[in-house]
Amino acid sequence: VLLIGSSNALIGFDRGIEILRAGGSALDAVEAVTRVVEDNPEDHTVGYGGIPNLEGVVELDASIMEGATHQAGCVGGLRGYRAAITVARAVMERLPHVLVVGEGAARLAAEIGLAEEEMLSPEAEHIWRDGIEGRLDKSSALANMAAAVAGLRTPPVDAEIDAGTVDVIAQDGQRRIVSAVSTSGWGWKYPGRLGDTPVLGAGNWCDDRHGAAACTGLGELAVRAGTARSAVEAMARGAGAPDAAKAALEDLRLLEPPAGASMNVVVVKADGTHAAGSLSAGATYAVWEAEMAAGELRPRVHVPLS
Ligand code: ASP
Repeated sequence: VLLIGSSNALIGFDRGIEILRAGGSALDAVEAVTRVVEDNPEDHTVGYGGIPNLEGVVELDASIMEGATHQAGCVGGLRGYRAAITVARAVMERLPHVLVVGEGAARLAAEIGLAEEEMLSPEAEHIWRDGIEGRLDKSSALANMAAAVAGLRTPPVDAEIDAGTVDVIAQDGQRRIVSAVSTSGWGWKYPGRLGDTPVLGAGNWCDDRHGAAACTGLGELAVRAGTARSAVEAMARGAGAPDAAKAALEDLRLLEPPAGASMNVVVVKADGTHAAGSLSAGATYAVWEAEMAAGELRPRVHVPLS
């Protein structure tokens, strides 16, 4: 069994490995790990306590994908509920659909018995206000949001706060792979903006024949390049996991990303080998292999864009 993910997933890995070691499914494992991160108020990029959109409303995106049959569920712009990954799983298991957004996503959350709550934590509200006051003229921001968001197109000042997401990929005892991604998206985003997280092929792709990949970073890039799928396609053509991560990130050159833009991908090959890549130096990813006593952070391959 195997669990890998973005570094911020590590806090939930005990839960996931417990499920996998007890013979549970990769599907249950990735959901459980993601829920721990969604519950973490200190993570301002996922679930409760995420940085809100420009209007101060937290909107979550998530996706979950099974490698065996490409069964998948995605939600976008979910308001009022923290467990976005569980709602994505409900889309996959209870609806004949793949992607549900906004009011419909919230309705489904209520139907499966999740509790509605205020998602803006006091701390996230502070960060949001600081950002509005420090970086935008508030009156013009709220009157002309398009202009305000365009003003934020330069890479966010503090990548730790403005951008982030959780990726979790598990392979269970039956060698089934499932990938999950959950995010509050780009802080101060235009209301209704969706990034790569709920878009299959962009932020999340899973295929038991070849492997799986999931992204964090400037989602617009992964949407335009189909980054998660391009990593898996590289493995389908015979690449190892590190080369697949590298190829998917090198493919972003065509897009001429803004200087300092972030994009990161974690990759598992069907044989259980894994790697991760980042446009940024010094980045890490989380790993818990079957024989390990605890999960740990490992370095990502650095793929500079120029
Ligand atoms: N990829 C996420 C998005 O674009 C944000 C991030 O990972 O930083 O919504």
